[in-house]
Amino acid sequence: MKTHVQAVVIGGGVIGCSILYHLTKLGWTDVVMLERDELTSGSTWHAAANIHGLHDSTNISRIQHYTMNLYKELEQETGQGCGVFQPGSLYLAQTEAREHQLKLQAAKAKLYGMNFAEISRTEAEALHPFVNFDGIRTIMYEPDGGNVDPSGVTNAYAMGARQRGAEIYRFTPVTGTEQQPDGSWIVRTPKGDIHTQWVVNAAGLWGREVARMAGIELPLQPTEHQYFVTETIAEIDALDRRLPSVADRDGEYYLRQEGKGLLVGAYEKNLKLWAEDGTPHDFGHELFDDDLERIEENMMRAIDRVPLVGTAGIKRVINGPMIWSPDSNVLFGPVPELRNYFCCNGIIPGFSQSGGMGLLAAQWIIEGETKYDMFAWDMARFGDWADAAFTKARVCDQYAHRFKIHFPNEERAAGRPARTRLIYDMQRDMGAFFGLNFGWEHPLYFDADTPDTAGFTRQGWWHSVGREARMLRDHVGVIDISNFAKYKIKGAGAQQWLDAVFANKMPTEVGRSCLTPLIGVRGGIAGDATVTKLADDEYWMVSSGMAERYQQRFYQMVPLPEGTTFESCTINTCGFNVAGPKSRELLQSLSNADLSNDAWKFMRSGPITIAGIDCIALRVSFTGDLGWEIYCNQTDQMVVYTALITAARTLNGGPVGSRALMSLRVEKGYGSWGREYSPEYWPQEVGLERLCKLEKNFLNKAACENVLALPMREKMVFLHINEDAVNASNADATGGEPIFKNGVGIGRVSSGAYGYSVNMSLAIGFVKNAAAGDSVEVMILGTPHQATILDAAPFDPQGIKLRS
Ligand SMILES: Cc1cc2nc3c(=O)[nH]c(=O)nc-3n(C[C@H](O)[C@H](O)[C@H](O)COP(=O)(O)OP(=O)(O)OC[C@H]3O[C@@H](n4cnc5c(N)ncnc54)[C@H](O)[C@@H]3O)c2cc1C
Repeated sequence: MKTHVQAVVIGGGVIGCSILYHLTKLGWTDVVMLERDELTSGSTWHAAANIHGLHDSTNISRIQHYTMNLYKELEQETGQGCGVFQPGSLYLAQTEAREHQLKLQAAKAKLYGMNFAEISRTEAEALHPFVNFDGIRTIMYEPDGGNVDPSGVTNAYAMGARQRGAEIYRFTPVTGTEQQPDGSWIVRTPKGDIHTQWVVNAAGLWGREVARMAGIELPLQPTEHQYFVTETIAEIDALDRRLPSVADRDGEYYLRQEGKGLLVGAYEKNLKLWAEDGTPHDFGHELFDDDLERIEENMMRAIDRVPLVGTAGIKRVINGPMIWSPDSNVLFGPVPELRNYFCCNGIIPGFSQSGGMGLLAAQWIIEGETKYDMFAWDMARFGDWADAAFTKARVCDQYAHRFKIHFPNEERAAGRPARTRLIYDMQRDMGAFFGLNFGWEHPLYFDADTPDTAGFTRQGWWHSVGREARMLRDHVGVIDISNFAKYKIKGAGAQQWLDAVFANKMPTEVGRSCLTPLIGVRGGIAGDATVTKLADDEYWMVSSGMAERYQQRFYQMVPLPEGTTFESCTINTCGFNVAGPKSRELLQSLSNADLSNDAWKFMRSGPITIAGIDCIALRVSFTGDLGWEIYCNQTDQMVVYTALITAARTLNGGPVGSRALMSLRVEKGYGSWGREYSPEYWPQEVGLERLCKLEKNFLNKAACENVLALPMREKMVFLHINEDAVNASNADATGGEPIFKNGVGIGRVSSGAYGYSVNMSLAIGFVKNAAAGDSVEVMILGTPHQATILDAAPFDPQGIKLRS
């Protein structure tokens, strides 16, 4: 066994083997895999191994397509069969919402050159004569859909990795992982230790146990999951071809041909958790007892749709464990609190995603960053707040609603509240509906009479949000922004450190604020922050709350000068954005500070007393209107909020939620992290190039310089969607919709909202080969909506209100 390597991959399931393969493919050949048993010993061996290309997330779709294509290449490269069957998949829509979802996916497929398009019932019947298509509104066909052989695929990855130099040690359990002072690791096994630069946790069902060896807790919970295979069915036996699989998501089961029979699997409501206290060490190639009663309802729906299912006996039932994260996406990426420890755990569609997952893991480990923005997968999207109770509740919800449509703006109640602020009850009493933001409950809108429903079309709360947005634009609004990430950087080296991290020049004068990009490893936008100089040796920084743990990785790359401290104040401070034409009047009524424009200009900041409480005030605004952000200790939150709301009411203002904020910032054309600001976009593509100061040094400056020297691939633009079109469909863009010009795909929407103060349905998007004034089509609900590219965002393009 080798004793010194570049990477140790722990776990020889389909995912570990794919990571090992891709590490070698990207050039690291001094890598090994440790597997406690035989390869495929976890969830892998008993999977139904269906493969699909389309996903609601565009980048996950790209990954799934890469994976589907890879299996055939892998067979050729290694000679190991992967058992690839691609008879296609039929996707059925029983409801209008499912129809919208599928049409949107078809539009995305057209944009990205993927195979997924609508077919007629006659065409579908020819492809699958045993499906009863009654009650189906829309049918989509994905010709590449199908299934693979789980052990064939896993062994093909293993073979490919070995051929490129990797070594695989079976029956070699990892018993310990110990971080060394230089960031490397000692991996302990009964056969000896291995010193490695990187550890990759791909231990599947045992992901939690392996993580604990490194001192980390992963929010994961296994469940049982069942499918069954029928005896041979004469009608299928008589066919000289394979039937396409049937994705009847509204029926909550999956169905495909297996041998000469059918395979049906289900995600039942009455699910069964497994191994809540930890996966047993000695669990091997085992299955649980059959319990078909649990999936009976799903089975009956499958029989209704494909009556042949009910005509044959059941040959085999597979009831095996799979392990879930709270949102059923993988926990992916380097652990921010450790050095060189990569997690890839909690994968549900392992066979649809293994290839892309392995590729991106290898990119991240070897090149420092993935090529796609994979925040949806990043383990840093969860923090300590995702504890066992939260995880269990979310996993139950995810499992039971596996095939439910995930609507834009959807908020799921399971496991909440996880983290609340002192004003939570007060906000609830004021009629707030809450969203989940990095564990925090934060108000979406205030209207107790209008429930927070979800859909692709405008919901009842669309009007409530509109009232709040207009109230702020006409009078004043108070937005709770406590969920933003907040930091204090203190010490003689504070400015030096900030300048070394961020691309913009840090303010040198006390009381000044600046906006700055954080540049990613490939030169894209890894973050944006507002940095304020509070004192000679003290800075205050505000950034995206969702990204706090993600961005921690970047902050750690630059050592703090001796005597300088970096402290997250997200928990112990709260914030309010007071914005609108009467915001000055409101704050002035609660403070002795001179808030006149001469005394307190735009982008100026400083200490302020509000209702007798010491706060920090920043004259910045994400709404595009005159406004201040006020930060106070969380213990003072109740007093400050009460005072702000009371004063706002006297000025015809009041509380405003984050959905209105979204609309307001889209009207103003401000980018938001995770939508416009993403490591996939270069500074010049999002209009932030002037904030990248190449005359100084900063994190990833060389990459920034490289991309700035290149022409833009796409440009961020503002779109006005035709009113007649949106009124007819009763839907606005929400993000992700493809944009076409004369039938040719030119880009996609990153954010969409109705602009209530400008009375326009709006979107921000990225396009190529298009300019202001061009007429384009935005595929809202998957159908073309005429839109015009604007030359500027419609609200106060000169920024007069901001500076007034
Ligand atoms: C019934 C069922 C049906 C499924 N159907 C599908 C499907 O149709 N399509 C699809 O895409 N996915 C499906 N899946 C999911 C799929 O099986 C998983 O996504 C995939 O197998 C996960 O692979 P993995 O490599 O992450 O984990 P695992 O397969 O669990 O592999 C982990 C490996 O790590 C090893 N290991 C653990 N601890 C240690 C240690 N300390 N030292 C060394 N080695 C260790 C284990 O022995 C194991 O071999 C299904 C799952 C089930 C249960």
